[in-house]
Amino acid sequence: MSEPILPGSTLGILGSGQLGRMLAQSARRMGYRIHTLSPGSDTPTGQLADREVVADYDDLDAIADFARQVDVVTFEFENVASAATDAAAQHAPVRPRGQVLHITQNRRREKEALAAAGLPTAPFEVVDTQAQLAGAIDRIGTPAILKTAGFGYDGKGQTRIDRNTDPADAWAAIGGVPAVLEGLVDFAAELSVVAARGLDGAVVDYGLIENRHVDHILDVSIADMPLVPEQAKAARDIAETVLSALDVVGVLCIELFLTRDGALLVNELAPRPHNSGHLTIEGCASSQFDQQLRAVCGLPLGDTRRLQPVAMVNLLGDHWAGGEPAWAAALADPAVNLHLYGKAEASAGRKMGHITAFGSDRDDAARRATAARAALHSTE
Ligand code: AMP
Repeated sequence: MSEPILPGSTLGILGSGQLGRMLAQSARRMGYRIHTLSPGSDTPTGQLADREVVADYDDLDAIADFARQVDVVTFEFENVASAATDAAAQHAPVRPRGQVLHITQNRRREKEALAAAGLPTAPFEVVDTQAQLAGAIDRIGTPAILKTAGFGYDGKGQTRIDRNTDPADAWAAIGGVPAVLEGLVDFAAELSVVAARGLDGAVVDYGLIENRHVDHILDVSIADMPLVPEQAKAARDIAETVLSALDVVGVLCIELFLTRDGALLVNELAPRPHNSGHLTIEGCASSQFDQQLRAVCGLPLGDTRRLQPVAMVNLLGDHWAGGEPAWAAALADPAVNLHLYGKAEASAGRKMGHITAFGSDRDDAARRATAARAALHSTE
């Protein structure tokens, strides 16, 4: 095993959003230097970095130059092409390895990898043509969801297919590109497992987090979904299998459906810290960002133990529509912590920050986090 990359070294982050910013916060605390590369300037990550490189992700010379000046490269932006991670890997270790990105940035490769690892998913078929789509609808049945294979997130590039939907319309709706047709899961809840795998193969996870979405965007996450021991074990086994099968070094989030009969199905993978894991910053002995840093630097992983019942709510740009939110009112409850990502423009649907709250139990934590967010609009 290679030598650990120790404090004082430089971490290179491809991407510059809030995930990079929170990773940079962990890295700073542990005495690392941070370089970030993205097409933007004065970015959430760049504001905390020692160096902010402005370049496109397909500028392979810039990526190679960036990698030459750091000790390890990781990413917070998922749609970096293989050519870019390959260019970086010539000069510094890339963790997780580029192949993990390559698989997870394409639903088709991801679904095929999950099936190859024997993991449960919704029924699916890959489709390349409208004629194949018609056949796949016959086999999978309706309702179903057609999803583009590449570059989809937060419900983008998806269309629902019902009994009366004309396959031609559905095919046109996603732009007639390679896709995956999935049976619609009648889920009882959406869950996630955030897990980390070290360079030595050790895997840790933060247990099952419950996620509630609004308009396909994460709205509320609550730690410790109360499930029977068999389900908790199944989730842990899924995490262990995914991270080992993909040979991940770093953090990976597995989004799951809990079906009405109690089964867990994998929806999708995110090979990085995840929005649903933000509650680990205050809520757990070491956060998902601490783990990402420790894993990619080849250090022993930290303790994932949750300290108190905790919940998180996202703050989207919509909260700025009526002017500056009432921050002091939101912070009136001392159980609340506020995170803002340093984004200048607050557009609708844009993730601007989040609030976490502790509570006497998980429902109380969720209630306090939601109440703090509602207080942003108080006029007193
Ligand atoms: P995705 O971009 O695949 O994570 O999908 C975004 C959201 O759409 C998920 O969080 C679910 O709420 C919903 N969704 C996606 N796929 C399915 C499915 N097969 N069955 C039911 N709901 C789904």
